Amino acid sequence: MTQGALAGDIMCGMAVDPTITLATKVSDLPGVGPTRAAALQRLGIATAGDLVKHLPHRWEYHAGQAAIAQLQPDTVATAVGEVANCRWIAGQRRGMKGRFQATLVDETNQLDLVWFNAGYLRDKLAPGMRVAVTGKVAAYRDYLQMVNPKWQPLDDATERGEDGERYHGVYPATEDLTSDQVGKLIDGWLDTLLPQIDDHLPEAFRNERAMPALAEAYDAMHRPGGEDDVKTARRRLAFDELLMLQLGLAMKRHHTRTHFTAAALSCNDAIDRHIRDRFPFALTGAQGKVVREIAGDLQKPVPMNRLLQGDVGSGKTVVALYAMLLAAASRKQAALMAPTELLAEQHHQSISAMLTGSAVRLALLTGSLTPAERDAGRAAIEAGEVDLVVGTQALLTESVTFSDLAVVVIDEQHRFGVEQRATVRSKNADANTIPHTLIMTATPIPRTLSLTLFGDLDVSTIDALPPGRQPIDTRVVGDAKRDDVYTYLAKRVDSGEQLYVVLPAIDEGELGLKAVRSEVELLEQKWFADKRIASVHGQLKRDTRAVIMDRFRRGEIDVLVATTVIEVGVDVPNASLMVVEHAERFGLAQLHQLRGRVGRGSKRSLCVFIAEPTTDDAAQRMEAIAQTTNGFEIAEADLHIRGMGELIGARQSGLPPFRVADVERDGELLRMAKRDAEALIASDPRLQGDAHRLLRARLFKQYREALGLGDVG
Ligand code: ADP
Ligand code: MG
Repeated sequence: MTQGALAGDIMCGMAVDPTITLATKVSDLPGVGPTRAAALQRLGIATAGDLVKHLPHRWEYHAGQAAIAQLQPDTVATAVGEVANCRWIAGQRRGMKGRFQATLVDETNQLDLVWFNAGYLRDKLAPGMRVAVTGKVAAYRDYLQMVNPKWQPLDDATERGEDGERYHGVYPATEDLTSDQVGKLIDGWLDTLLPQIDDHLPEAFRNERAMPALAEAYDAMHRPGGEDDVKTARRRLAFDELLMLQLGLAMKRHHTRTHFTAAALSCNDAIDRHIRDRFPFALTGAQGKVVREIAGDLQKPVPMNRLLQGDVGSGKTVVALYAMLLAAASRKQAALMAPTELLAEQHHQSISAMLTGSAVRLALLTGSLTPAERDAGRAAIEAGEVDLVVGTQALLTESVTFSDLAVVVIDEQHRFGVEQRATVRSKNADANTIPHTLIMTATPIPRTLSLTLFGDLDVSTIDALPPGRQPIDTRVVGDAKRDDVYTYLAKRVDSGEQLYVVLPAIDEGELGLKAVRSEVELLEQKWFADKRIASVHGQLKRDTRAVIMDRFRRGEIDVLVATTVIEVGVDVPNASLMVVEHAERFGLAQLHQLRGRVGRGSKRSLCVFIAEPTTDDAAQRMEAIAQTTNGFEIAEADLHIRGMGELIGARQSGLPPFRVADVERDGELLRMAKRDAEALIASDPRLQGDAHRLLRARLFKQYREALGLGDVG
């Protein structure tokens, strides 16, 4: 051991120190000065306990492995050396595997390496590289051999290890704190800290699932003997994270189900017929199926908590209206919340059209109403003089009290989150009566994610489009093609089709993007001189905007130049053309939503994305949007491009991110955690049993705020 390493170890306090606990601030650890403490803080490490939880993000082999001459046949071992003699041998006959051969050489001997079916290694392994290989040693004639060993290139940094450790973690680090420094510090305190870790999982529970104790798992993550140790430890820690979230969700759901009731609405053939008669078309089979599921829920005194997924244009609005009219039929109120004013206005308009001549009273409540109108609306809702309310989510949740609200529909809920679900005030006589909730989204939620975040939701899916729809043609083109695009679109507009032009901004900013105001003029002059052109964006007054949307809907406007205010929900079946400028700037789900504005009628629609992608991600988004119009595939692609981390990350969901679990990879573990969480909560709803004391404490520490467990447990 070198002098430096020794000094480092002393500084980090190798011996067990009884005064140090998991709660000790790192700044109070011997050998950690203010500078180091600040650097640790930047890594999210404030206490000694945080040190233990600061896990390596990958593991590497150190030098110090067995010399090749010492390898024992039939044992798994790691050897380090230089690669020589690389050779790819293709399969001789059809169906025969090829193999990649190489030799590993060190000062003592050489080792033959064979990888079957591994043509890709031709680009990876080359003579002269230093690598570590791990695998089972075999004696083949006079030679030592490894078949399909794991391998890893070594650079100077990874080989430096002086302490003879074989397999070690690489830690998240910062500029002023290297992985090695972090690792040494952690290593120095593990023997003090690990024995202090109590396991929140009862031993029997752990044993049944072949999980190591918590302290053992942390030990193995920081000081693994090999890959298997890490695997086992990772499984335990990932399970913990998944279990905690599932427990929180299960506890909440149990609480809702046992403490709250909802109005049991009546539904019978007469009511059903009455409602369907209001619709200008027959419901499709897919709509009928979800309507039955929803009506089934609404007839029970248990609050419905249902997610309705259906691709853009699949006809979710009438399903929502069906649920709302069931409330009205029972003389109760219902609310429909939209994410934008434009969409709220459109819903109001189409619903009032369907309700013409009925006794159902409908109100619109958005921020664009005058204060007097808003106050009048609120008063009517509170007095029960209104049956159905359409409004923006912000307004309805913040400032309105309902007299007797039975159904809440949240339209176009894209954000994946647990906490964004609206909470609405109602004056229901019984404070424990809450409305049924229906959440609608056009962005299908990948199954693993829905299990994670929406573990407490039932899901209905509209899996077919209304009849007569034509597929949408999609083109992605570069700037150079713009003139061709507009020449072609102008022809189609000439023959009576309507066009959306979507731009990322209202005014040209310093970014030099095309913007609504300037583009309207340009389009008018250059391509659509004799056409009726208008624009909509967020800065217009409500009345102006409504008039324009109305005229566009009636076909009195040919070209509508818009910002993304039209992104969600807007429904003008006759509009069959769309061009999106600067498409590379939009997210994949957003592009899919935008495109969903066309293809709603019986005409064959065209959507052109003009894009100059400058990043890999943007290029992938363009490829994905061109390739499919299926919302589910889009969602999967989006997930793949952005990574689950971002979707489920703190920013999106309001939940603490997972450190170890990867919901995409750990699907099996996730299902297990969900089952276990449900069983635990069923047997001990508040986790107050002695065996669950620690589990409860940890759960509350982590999720009390994020999941609002305060009044639950
Ligand atoms: P989503 O909200 O799911 O994107 P919408 O509810 O806006 O879709 O419906 C899209 C279009 O399809 C609307 O013009 C609507 O009137 C129409 N539509 C919905 N259901 C049917 C149906 N069963 N038959 C014919 N047209 C339908
Ligand atoms: Mg919609």
